[in-house]
Amino acid sequence: METKTKKCSHCKKEIDAMATRCPHCQGKMYVWTKEKKIVAVILAVIVFMIFSSGLFSSDKTTTTTTQPPAKTISPEELAKWKITPAGKLCEKHPTWKKEDCDRLVDERIWIGMTYEMLIYLNGKPDSANPSNYGNGIKYQYCWHDNTPSCYYDTNNDGIIDSYN
Ligand SMILES: [Zn+2]
Repeated sequence: METKTKKCSHCKKEIDAMATRCPHCQGKMYVWTKEKKIVAVILAVIVFMIFSSGLFSSDKTTTTTTQPPAKTISPEELAKWKITPAGKLCEKHPTWKKEDCDRLVDERIWIGMTYEMLIYLNGKPDSANPSNYGNGIKYQYCWHDNTPSCYYDTNNDGIIDSYN
């Protein structure tokens, strides 16, 4: 029976294929054992996963923040909502969102609502003044009988940025 041989990587002499140490020069052989092969495959898989996850590719932006899916309502629900006061309000103001109309019907105020929405809630303001406190013009709308009474549009975009 013929025994398999390999060349010693150090002295180039023929040695047993399974030898881990060369009998001629005592040089250590690197042998691919089953275990080493498994480790190599695992490492290759890990490397592949890292690369395919886009960790090193610049064109893929890894978005770690998962946004909650937008609330969707069925056409039946929407039809029902359209005949509510909020639905009717939104029909009159197509640019307003459903949640805006819901809040307005509840007579709620919030940062980010528009001046137009405020007028809907409170009517025309008792005073609407541009004021400049040194950091640009900001609009102040006040309703004397309301609390909060004054609302501010600091960047003139028609959206309420603060109130007091
Ligand atoms: Zn050798």
